[in-house]
Amino acid sequence: MVERVGIVGGGIMGLAQAWSAAERGHQVTIFERTRVASGASIRNFGMVWPIGQPEALRDMTLLSRERWLQVAAEAGIWANPYGSLHLAHHADEQAVLQEYLDLQAGSAWGTHLQWLDRETALARYGVINPEGFRGALYSDMEICVNPTSATRRLPIWLQERYDVELKFGQTISEVGSGWLKTAQGEKHDFERIIICSGHDRETLFPGLYAQLPLRACKLQMLRTYPQAAGWQLGAHIASGLTLRHYSSFRVCSSLTDVIERIAAESPELDEFGIHVMASQDDLGRVVLGDSHEYEERIEPFDSQRINELILRELQKIICLPDWRMESQWHGIYTKVPDGGPIVCSPESRVYIATGVGGAGMTLAFGVAETQWRHWSGDGPAVSQR
Ligand SMILES: Cc1cc2nc3c(=O)[nH]c(=O)nc-3n(C[C@H](O)[C@H](O)[C@H](O)COP(=O)(O)OP(=O)(O)OC[C@H]3O[C@@H](n4cnc5c(N)ncnc54)[C@H](O)[C@@H]3O)c2cc1C
Repeated sequence: MVERVGIVGGGIMGLAQAWSAAERGHQVTIFERTRVASGASIRNFGMVWPIGQPEALRDMTLLSRERWLQVAAEAGIWANPYGSLHLAHHADEQAVLQEYLDLQAGSAWGTHLQWLDRETALARYGVINPEGFRGALYSDMEICVNPTSATRRLPIWLQERYDVELKFGQTISEVGSGWLKTAQGEKHDFERIIICSGHDRETLFPGLYAQLPLRACKLQMLRTYPQAAGWQLGAHIASGLTLRHYSSFRVCSSLTDVIERIAAESPELDEFGIHVMASQDDLGRVVLGDSHEYEERIEPFDSQRINELILRELQKIICLPDWRMESQWHGIYTKVPDGGPIVCSPESRVYIATGVGGAGMTLAFGVAETQWRHWSGDGPAVSQR
């Protein structure tokens, strides 16, 4: 049966839901509060980042990756499948990366991974700071997209390709079973409504959001001017500090040494949740970050000290030809501490898709497709809430 599907939110989560619904022949309308998407989906590194995802989310992650490559080809979105490097500048970081490799050996996941010794990595990737460098874990799974242009191109493509109706510049102020109302008072009826409102937990179903195990997180980011003369980063870059951040590395017992050393040497990095990464967009700009401040610590103001710490740590591990900054900003997402994405239903015919945290670009297409397969009677739901 063809359904009328209403989506609230034109970020990557809403767009992914819209695509999976439209592909099944449903009539889709997207309501987005701002005239062009401006939330977390345009503020990130553009990292499609399977290497950071826990084992429980691997199928969803790889499904999402496949969908990115498909939509990039169909919608004319730039996507660079250049892989990723985790750089080891300390013996304990090397130990974690080698333990991770050993644990994955013989698995399908492990076939995507390779240890690059110091000489090989330095010869291939001019970006690496050689001082103290010991080697790197290369993964061929990661993709880079330009988050701003991709998130703004997708709705236009959905409209052209599937006749998806775009109602941007319209806030949804109320949702009930099978209907929603805009702030202007217009009521629209749908068989299914999917709320993908990002970190906004106050406008729709605030009582339900308050019961979900979600935490808001603010991240500071920087971006360089385009690097000159076609200079290439060559891969997404992650540091030893990053090993503390993604749950994928928690399977390594050697991780404790890294965590304890960094806590003792540089407690300021733990205070602001700093680990450092870099990606490069299609305009040659290098996107750099990031910090993590949660809930009550979130201020509207960006901290110059945090930016300085991020740059201090990046300069220890990479050498860019041009470190001049073109832009600085922050973004906010909501995450489930130690948990995955949530799709729940506050009323019949109404669903909320949330909790992708720092992996929304990586997971959104997988979350949407998994949930739509489930609604079509094929496979498990994203979450059982
Ligand atoms: C700095 C930063 C770096 C990140 N880096 C990465 C990365 O490299 N890789 C990765 O996988 N993930 C990354 N993430 C996470 C990823 O960006 C998010 O998980 C993802 O963008 C969340 O998508 P979303 O659609 O839920 O939220 P959003 O993009 O915030 O979209 C929600 C939309 O809903 C709209 N909205 C809200 N309420 C209403 C309403 N009532 N009516 C109408 N519209 C409404 C908002 O205007 C907004 O446009 C990063 C996040 C940040 C902040």
